[in-house]
Amino acid sequence: MIDVIDIYKEAINGNKRAIGKLLTLVEDLKEENLPIVRDILSKGGNAHIIGITGIPGAGKSTLISKIISELRKRGYKVAVIAVDPSSPFTSGAFLGDRVRMQKHATDPGVFIRSLASRGLKGGLSLATLLTLETFDSLGYDKIIIETVGAGQVDIDIFFAAMSILVVTIPGAGDEIQALKAGLMEIGDVYVVNKADKMDADDAVQQLKFALESGELTKKTDWVPRIFKTSAVTGEGISDVVDSLEEHFAYLKRSGGFKKSVLLRREHLVKVLLYWLAEREVDKKLSTVSDIIDAVKKGQIDPITAALKAYDKIF
Ligand code: GDP
Repeated sequence: MIDVIDIYKEAINGNKRAIGKLLTLVEDLKEENLPIVRDILSKGGNAHIIGITGIPGAGKSTLISKIISELRKRGYKVAVIAVDPSSPFTSGAFLGDRVRMQKHATDPGVFIRSLASRGLKGGLSLATLLTLETFDSLGYDKIIIETVGAGQVDIDIFFAAMSILVVTIPGAGDEIQALKAGLMEIGDVYVVNKADKMDADDAVQQLKFALESGELTKKTDWVPRIFKTSAVTGEGISDVVDSLEEHFAYLKRSGGFKKSVLLRREHLVKVLLYWLAEREVDKKLSTVSDIIDAVKKGQIDPITAALKAYDKIF
């Protein structure tokens, strides 16, 4: 216990090794560590959580690298959580994220953490939410969560993110249609990236039309913004950051900030409950081995067995 408190103190002072250790502790959550994790988390609740999503190859990680530079210029401490829910292994593309953001690795005000399903016993959602709370508690002003926009983890992230940036590219009309059906409605800021390479005006118009016709509007009085950017030349990046800042101010003003912190913590309770329930099953599996054996011998059906075992465990 004392050990972890020391690590926490060093982490607060910006020691990257200590921060890494702390993150490993929450990713690799053990029941006996729950009290210390609770103490760590009680100090957070101040960070601006920015979710960045969009189709693979749209330029999210390149864009994030530029956004980090802009946020650093403005004096903020920045943490990035790159989440890859699709692959149980760290894919090549995923490694690319780190390479692109590598230039920030030596900056004491930036911490980048990649999370993939591999090796995370409590699941990716729990790890992501706890990593986020840890960065918040350590005083990072801006926490960027990058996802590819699919699956349960993304839903969990949308619970946690306060400002959502959706990245698309010119010519992605079909994607825009697809996003309309799902993700698009959650954007606070939209970016049409790669404007240096392709004419982005069409895509901007399509998005504008979808927003104005009400198809993509969220049920708040924030009017989503749309920008053309180039993550290569840097065009539009400071406008995007300006607008994220505006959205943050709006959230603070409207009470949305506080609500968002409480909402994600409420959600964390559920994710933790699933985790605890799973551990309980694992711990007590041996006490129901006779029931499982009966299935193996063909004496009872698996559903009857599961219900019986459930009753015995809980
Ligand atoms: P992600 O999969 O959304 O994270 O996309 P990446 O950031 O990995 O970018 C995919 C590819 O697009 C890389 O080769 C980038 O160099 C390139 N790229 C990203 N942004 C831009 C841009 O604004 N303009 C151009 N021309 N290329 C870009």
